[in-house]
Amino acid sequence: MPVDLAELTAEIAAAMAGAEDRGQVARYIPELAGVDPAQFGIAIATADGRMFAAGDADTGFSIQSISKVFALTLALGKVGDQLWERVGREPSGNAFNSIVQLEQEHGIPRNPFINAGAIVVSDVNLGGHQPRVAIGEILRFVHYLTGDDSIAIDEAVAASEGATGYRNIALANYMRAFGNVRHSPELVLGLYVHQCAIEMSCRQLALAGRYLMLDGRHPDGGRVVSPGRARRINALMLTCGHYDASGDFAFRVGIPGKSGVGGGILAIVPGRASIAVWSPGLTEAGNSRLGGQALEILARRTGWSIFSPP
Ligand code: GLU
Repeated sequence: MPVDLAELTAEIAAAMAGAEDRGQVARYIPELAGVDPAQFGIAIATADGRMFAAGDADTGFSIQSISKVFALTLALGKVGDQLWERVGREPSGNAFNSIVQLEQEHGIPRNPFINAGAIVVSDVNLGGHQPRVAIGEILRFVHYLTGDDSIAIDEAVAASEGATGYRNIALANYMRAFGNVRHSPELVLGLYVHQCAIEMSCRQLALAGRYLMLDGRHPDGGRVVSPGRARRINALMLTCGHYDASGDFAFRVGIPGKSGVGGGILAIVPGRASIAVWSPGLTEAGNSRLGGQALEILARRTGWSIFSPP
């Protein structure tokens, strides 16, 4: 019998509302430290055009590293497979903001979803322009994907990270020394912190992810990326989307997912669903604790997995 997604999302939201161990809210970005951990939202956009949402699905949150999916999509549109000369495609096995592999690997980050990789992607997206131009481009892309022009950047979050993001400043400068960051690190990080500070609700994020469940198509019929590119982005989300806990996420949930330290996760079931979950408390690896648990329950109850027949 097909699962009733309205009932299931409501059931998951109710279970998460009562959860005791919610994890720790990210504190290293001062503006995120004050977010109330007692929140949970879930939204599912299905391939046949329906939407199921429950809990705090309409509350805006900082998408943080989930923006790396949209930024990667844009960068691939600009330079195609040449991007892979500057960024790898291997899981890092290290923390999201780690610098250790960069020396051995000559300033080439392991993948586009760790901070170092995303900073190179920002360098590509900057393309000789001022950050404001590239920020406008990424925001317009998100508006196009969602059909919602109200989505905006939380300037306080961007300023907060801009003022305290010492590790990212170090990463950008280090890669600049290898010639793998080509603009001034200040401009590149200006773009990076603003894309991370895009604020979206679960409902908006689930809408934004639809092209990845639809083999690269926008639900309006337009093509966002080729089918092959959509599959590759999904493959990177599965293998690298949860930092050094990516293997565990694949094992427990079994679908591509990208997390952010704002507590959101975008997860894709190809051909079936684009899912957004959000709860601000994080695990030690920096992934939403309840968000991961919710996706695990959802995958188990629906049978959704890229490792089993549809
Ligand atoms: N803006 C955050 C940082 O660079 C993103 C990290 C994340 O969401 O995992 O630290």
